[in-house]
Formats: sequence, structure tokens, C-alpha cells
Amino acid sequence: MPMPRRLNFLECRLAATPGLVQQGAQKTVHADVLRICPDCKGRRVRPGVAASSCGFCRGSGQVLRSRAGAQAASRVCPGCGGRGLQAQQWCRRCGGVGLARVASSMQIKVPPGVQDDTVLRIPLQGDLPEEGTQKGDIYVVVAVQQLDGMLRDGSDVHSTVSLAYPEAILGCSTEIGTVRGRRILTIPAGTQHKAVLSLPGEGVDYRGRHGTMYRGSHHVTILLQLPSSVAPVEKAILLELLAIERLQNSG
Ligand SMILES: [Zn+2]
Ligand SMILES: [Zn+2]
Repeated sequence: MPMPRRLNFLECRLAATPGLVQQGAQKTVHADVLRICPDCKGRRVRPGVAASSCGFCRGSGQVLRSRAGAQAASRVCPGCGGRGLQAQQWCRRCGGVGLARVASSMQIKVPPGVQDDTVLRIPLQGDLPEEGTQKGDIYVVVAVQQLDGMLRDGSDVHSTVSLAYPEAILGCSTEIGTVRGRRILTIPAGTQHKAVLSLPGEGVDYRGRHGTMYRGSHHVTILLQLPSSVAPVEKAILLELLAIERLQNSG
């Protein structure tokens, strides 16, 4: 019986932010793992089809090879590839093998202080090598990644924008880099220091359950910069501002 190429381990790259590195985290990882085929339930034939044996090997999956001067030896049947079933009856999803790759999500505990390229093991969540046997393990490679001032956290991306305080008070727009290219970020008037503005759908793609594709978000943390010294003209304006503030507060 031919089996799909079996993986000893699956590698999932998981991006880690500095916060995750410090505190550790529970993370969800996604992988396509070998399971009993959900279409044929491991019967290997198309649903609703009655199985009948391959005409070449009569269902054994093996045929005898005889060559002049050599002893007869059995080999995999060329008609059915060892499946023992007629090709037109094979389950479409698994090709008559009985096992198929199924999208699966699993939890992994990332320990505090995790380092780049650490390998974490999720026991017994990996490939099912054969029906009735034990599932293999999944190995997750943790990657601490930083790209052009952007931090990846799974499908979400984080970055920061520094603003002068008048920009935050009055509102403004600025161009930022995302994994999908340059985008205009609109900063509303009255934005506070360390406020987080999100751009949905500007993150990284990931495959959810049932193979559906999703896209993460880009989150921007606003950092306000206060000047350590000001020019005389700025000082004059600030003094005027202060006077207005005091007048308003006393009134
Ligand atoms: Zn199947
Ligand atoms: Zn055959």
C-alpha cells in the first residue's frame, strides 16, 4: 500500500515580539497534518461507490515479476499502485490511500526567555503515519524577527511612529511602511502618547481552520516627542499658549 511521503517533523515558523520573549505566551500554530481521510473515512474509495478489486492483481496490490533466468518476485501492481482497487473508484481527496492532509491548529506554550531558533515540541499532534498507529510530534521553530522597524507577531505586525506634540494635538497624516507597502496613516486630533492605531488587513496572511485564508492587522504605536530645548520664537509661542491655558483654567 503506497503511503504519502511521511514527515518526521513539521516546521512552523513563529515570530516572537520582545514582549513574548520576556513573558512567554500561549500561541496557536497551524499545520496541515496527515489524518484519516475525512471524505472516505479511511475506506479509500469514493463515497457512495462499492469497492471492487483491481483487475491486474485481483486486489492483492502485488503482481509477480518473472524474468528469464531470475526467480519470480512480487512487486507493486502497476495497475493500482498497490491499492488493490480500481483507479476510477479511488477517493478523490486521498487518491485511494485513506490518509489526507487536514488543516489543523494547535496550542503551543512558548517559555519566557525563548531564543531565536529554539525548537519546541508539540507531542502527538503531528502526522498519523498509518491508520491505527500513533500520531507523530510537531516541532515548532521560534523565530525572533524584526523587519525594517516592524515586529511580526503571528499574522499581526507592530511598528511605531514618532510625532511632534503639535501634530498629535492637531491631528495629521503620515506615510508608514507595512508588509503590504506604503500606507497613509491618519492620526486623529488629540492622539495620546502610546496610543495604538490599527490598520486591519495590512498584516500577514495565515491559513485558518478548513483552509480559509485570513489576514492580520498592522498596529502602530504613537510616540510623542517633547523637545529638550526650544528656539526663542518657539518659546514666545509656548509662553503665549501657557498664558491662554492659565486664563481658561482660572475662568
Ligand atoms: Zn479518502
Ligand atoms: Zn492492482
